[in-house]
Amino acid sequence: MDPRGFPTSLPEFQTVFPTDEACAKYLEAIRWPEGFACPKCRQSGEPYRFPTRSSVVLRCRKCKASTSLTAGTVMQSTHTPLSTWFWGGYLVTTQTPGQSALQFQRQLGLSRYETAFQILHKLRSGMVRPERDCIGGEHPVEVDECFVGGRTSGQGGGNHHMATVIGAVEVRQRKDAEQRAVKHRQNHGGEASLKKLVYAGRLRLRVVESRDTKHLVPFLMASIAKGSRVRTDGWYAYNGLAELGFSHDRLALAGDPEKADQHLPMIHLVFSNLKTWILGTHHGAIARHHLQAYLNEYVFRFNRRFYPMTAFNSVLGLAARAVPPTYEQLYSGAWVHPV
Ligand SMILES: [Zn+2]
Repeated sequence: MDPRGFPTSLPEFQTVFPTDEACAKYLEAIRWPEGFACPKCRQSGEPYRFPTRSSVVLRCRKCKASTSLTAGTVMQSTHTPLSTWFWGGYLVTTQTPGQSALQFQRQLGLSRYETAFQILHKLRSGMVRPERDCIGGEHPVEVDECFVGGRTSGQGGGNHHMATVIGAVEVRQRKDAEQRAVKHRQNHGGEASLKKLVYAGRLRLRVVESRDTKHLVPFLMASIAKGSRVRTDGWYAYNGLAELGFSHDRLALAGDPEKADQHLPMIHLVFSNLKTWILGTHHGAIARHHLQAYLNEYVFRFNRRFYPMTAFNSVLGLAARAVPPTYEQLYSGAWVHPV
């Protein structure tokens, strides 16, 4: 379990959500952390319960109005059991790399591919929400472009089947960076490697028409807070960043890959993992017009990798609801409805 009680392994997950009933209990606790209150007449207190496999209907004892636990979530009006949805939500948010529909069907033990496809599609729809807040600020940002998808061999060697993707990632200082550096000097001498002192913060990725200024700059303006320190290579399209209000840290790499990795290690690692994911999970076969959706999914998972519970609630459509009790509270019996 992580500190907030979210399962960090599949066996743990199965212990926390073994049945449809356990899933229903979680939904109820998220919606009514203080205990059930009728949405219609505001009456609080234990309702009548009518469980099915795919939802639970709660009926007010006073006005007899019914409320479905899955109303307003991605699980609304489906026949798939709650436990399958929960399992699916866990897989898409925590498994690296993400799932293809076929892998997903096998893991969920579903007999029909179409069911797996639909569930996966609905869970993913909770991932494509564009993230509008700017990254950077106190954290420096690495920016670079890469080519994604398609194969160049045997097709004239050009890039015409590949798409250009621009990315920006925050470089965050570890809280204990100074201690780590001191410890490293004591044990090994010299400077601690950058990798040990910093980690990747929030990420943004966008498919762009080309590497021209007119395509790269709008992404930077929309994604990075003014005044942030922005690291790029010497590509001419980034020439005007200082005039646009960024603190530009530009390095002419002249094709030296070692220098590039020293200057832009985070974004290069992101691109490398992104390409592996696309090749491995999707066999590189992503249509150009779907690519942005996949980038959004990748960014969603990346940005929430330290917050699996937030990601899980988001894909199930529960994020807009009240702050849930922790799983520990729920399943240790410590959590009780206040009277
Ligand atoms: Zn009522």
